Amino acid sequence: MSKVLSIENLHVAIDGKEILRGVDLTLRQGEVHALMGPNGSGKSTLSYALMGHPNYEVTAGSITLDGVDVLALEPDQRAKAGIFLAFQYPTVIPGVSVANFLRHAVTNVRNPDRKEGEDLIPMRDFRKELREQMDELGVDQEFARRYLNDGFSGGEKKRAEILQLAMLRPAFAILDETDSGLDIDAVRIVSEGVNRVAARHSTGVLVITHYERILTYIKPQFVHILFGGRIVENGGPDLIKLLEKEGYNWVREKYPEAAQDEAEMEAAQQQQKTPVGAAVK
Ligand code: ADP
Ligand code: MG
Repeated sequence: MSKVLSIENLHVAIDGKEILRGVDLTLRQGEVHALMGPNGSGKSTLSYALMGHPNYEVTAGSITLDGVDVLALEPDQRAKAGIFLAFQYPTVIPGVSVANFLRHAVTNVRNPDRKEGEDLIPMRDFRKELREQMDELGVDQEFARRYLNDGFSGGEKKRAEILQLAMLRPAFAILDETDSGLDIDAVRIVSEGVNRVAARHSTGVLVITHYERILTYIKPQFVHILFGGRIVENGGPDLIKLLEKEGYNWVREKYPEAAQDEAEMEAAQQQQKTPVGAAVK
């Protein structure tokens, strides 16, 4: 049965400062949505709030998955419930290999009742599956032995995120600027990876981006514009064309109140050196 992830009137604050000011968004399995918005509009804030990052305080509203209160769940329980986030800034985990990390993550997501110390999924099966997924993503087998994100290039980090997606097969995948810092070939490769997983497992996909480039490869049916911490426009692919041609000026003019908040948020973000999510995975 197709699952529904529903965000209603979501307000989120960081350090007591309101960032999201009432976001409504409904994702169904099998649907592809794009969330576009300028820097500082709150895109990553929404993805961290969905995953349960402790620094992001939900002050009002709800997130439910098939009626289950997601906000009451810890991040690991959210992953087990079928929500996956590909981070904008993946964290380096020295000492933990990609293979070891994935074997634990896959085991825990597939056997949600497993207790720590109980058996992991059998090595042979795991190795075979990992090898297949790495081949499909065009990553060298050596990749699995390296420490997670340690010394990885931008492209390798993003491929590691998509490898996790392919292995975990979530019901919902949120991709936070998976295209940022990638050259055009890498964007195509990770996009094809996402499309393959989504087609196979009927994943509901939320592509977060401020460039339209990735959306030529991962084609959304629904497009939302986040501006000043709220979704101001909902539409189809035509919205992408409009943003490409006209930028955000028309959005600013149409939503003056949101534009004021947006200007403050953009300025605040420029002052901030380390992204809040960077230290916690
Ligand atoms: P986007 O992903 O759309 O670029 P973010 O969600 O990262 O935007 O940021 C939205 C707003 O939240 C910005 O104004 C930013 O300065 C602010 N913000 C993000 N992280 C922090 C933090 N750790 N402390 C204070 N403000 C933050
Ligand atoms: Mg961001």
